[in-house]
Amino acid sequence: MRTDELVPVAAGLFEGTGSAARLIGTRCASCGTHYFPKTLSCRNPQCLEKATQDVLLSREGTLYSYTVQHYQPPALFRMADWVPYAIGSVELPEGLRVMGMLTGCEPASLTIGMAVELTVETLYRDVQGREVQTYKFQPRTAQELAA
Ligand SMILES: [Zn+2]
Repeated sequence: MRTDELVPVAAGLFEGTGSAARLIGTRCASCGTHYFPKTLSCRNPQCLEKATQDVLLSREGTLYSYTVQHYQPPALFRMADWVPYAIGSVELPEGLRVMGMLTGCEPASLTIGMAVELTVETLYRDVQGREVQTYKFQPRTAQELAA
């Protein structure tokens, strides 16, 4: 059974698809700290008011660090065609780092400090035939890979 329906791997992580995809985070209006995934309260011990609100985070960031996974991930993150894949920590302009799978190039082409952008891809089809999607980061341009 196959449908065109798309479902996120977990609720509240992101919205949109492709180049319109955005991560949903939290910004503390009191101290300006950003969080991802969303949080109910600011974790800054110096912050007294902790007035948090959901915000859409920047699509573009910098690859802070990464590793290549050579084992199959746990059930929540299963993939249709599993192959070793890279997972990275991406620094966003808001001053936070977000963990995510990396896509759009071979792991050997990744370099720390490269410009990356958010995208959304299908991990697998669930038992109802829906495409289960997650957010990933990919190199921003082909020039990034050639550099
Ligand atoms: Zn705060």
